Amino acid sequence: MSATSPEQMHAISADTRHTVEDVLEYARRRALYENVPLDKPMSPRDLERLASASITAEGIGARRAIALFENVLAPACVSTDHPGYLSFIPSAPSKASLAFDVVVSASAIYGGSWMEGAGAVYAENEVLHWLAREFGLAPGAGGVFVQGGTVGNLSALVTARDAARRRAIHDGRPAPARWVVVCSAEAHSSIASAAAVMDVDVVTAPVDHAGRLRGDAVARVLDEHGDAVFAVVATAGTTNFGIVDDIAGVGAVARERGVWFHVDGAYGLAAMLVERMRPLFVGVELADSVIVDPHKWLFAPFDACALIYREPELALPAHTQKAEYLDTLTGKPDWNPSDLAVQLTRRARGLPLWFSLATHGTQQYRDTIEYGIDLARRIADEIAGRDGLSLVRDPQLSVVVFRRDGWRLADYEAWSAKLLDEQQAFVVPSSHAGEPVLRLAIISPLTTFELLTGILDTLA
Ligand SMILES: *Cc1c(COP(=O)(O)O)cnc(C)c1O
Repeated sequence: MSATSPEQMHAISADTRHTVEDVLEYARRRALYENVPLDKPMSPRDLERLASASITAEGIGARRAIALFENVLAPACVSTDHPGYLSFIPSAPSKASLAFDVVVSASAIYGGSWMEGAGAVYAENEVLHWLAREFGLAPGAGGVFVQGGTVGNLSALVTARDAARRRAIHDGRPAPARWVVVCSAEAHSSIASAAAVMDVDVVTAPVDHAGRLRGDAVARVLDEHGDAVFAVVATAGTTNFGIVDDIAGVGAVARERGVWFHVDGAYGLAAMLVERMRPLFVGVELADSVIVDPHKWLFAPFDACALIYREPELALPAHTQKAEYLDTLTGKPDWNPSDLAVQLTRRARGLPLWFSLATHGTQQYRDTIEYGIDLARRIADEIAGRDGLSLVRDPQLSVVVFRRDGWRLADYEAWSAKLLDEQQAFVVPSSHAGEPVLRLAIISPLTTFELLTGILDTLA
């Protein structure tokens, strides 16, 4: 039995010094990989064989634990920042942002309150205010970085329902038997998930031939459901296709009826930073709340969603947690990020984006996002011109959906598995209108036209 003392893990001893240095050295190496390995998952059985028994009474030591992570566990995780990772929505954190994420970890900042995290919260707010201006929101808009788009959408909708309840009470109207949120059938699954958590109903309005939710479709649903509707959600870039709803039309109807207007731009709203794309996003300025995920197209590491309210004060009654031990925080007019979303303790998860933006400037962001849009256009034209491939729809943003003529789901799956097995790329089949399709989601500026045509070649 080795002798232990309570402060052993925290003391600045030779041992802890080595542990910190070894970890940071590994982080440095990973951050500076010239070629990120794509890697792939491993079966539970293989992991059991190679990686079990790391948790022991005495500990296995930092060296062995790092080696286990580097040699077994990390290679069993697909690298979402690999340029050939084109499934779902890839991540492509800038080197500055991922390095600064380590600083956030080393700094033990409590990002929930101004009293504890003023400096960090100030810097995060600088980013949120910049985004709010870009989205055309009036001064006074503000918000909080939450874990992801799912939590962002949930938090916004909770605020929306709270506001609707208050309005009903104020107007002397009874609350509806069931509250309703309206979105398109193409809206992200997190809206239905939020509705389930909130125990409210989702009513979907039909989309037009281009897959867009329009004002007239929303108006018809509002005619039918009236005061039961507490929010209308428009999507600024669907996840599967990158389709941007008719935000101006939907927003105008929501405004006219006095219903909360939420814009889910988790993936696509970043494209609004590109000047020539702005017409697509007209109407975002009407939003009562918007979200965009920095861990998607703003080149920040997992995980962060910027949730911005037109009137942040409206979120306070919905989200401020009351408890005796919190009284010292809640009695003050301070800007407390915890009061704006469904969370209390929070990592200052906006800081990696703040640092990278401060380092590189906003123009670099605009240019890097535009690169992805241009590359999507180019590869879509290439697909349209190749025999045996058909484009399902022209890309609006940076998602390209197409078919390999004559293939069934099993063909796509076998092809996808082989591509990953050979460590060329990670492209999983998606589906559209009940048909399997292939989908390339482009985020990384390291994804090249040649890499993409190399993938197309394997479909011949
Ligand atoms: C990704 C996405 C979400 C969910 O965001 P998470 O960060 O994965 O929770 C919500 N809406 C849209 C449109 C998305 O693309």
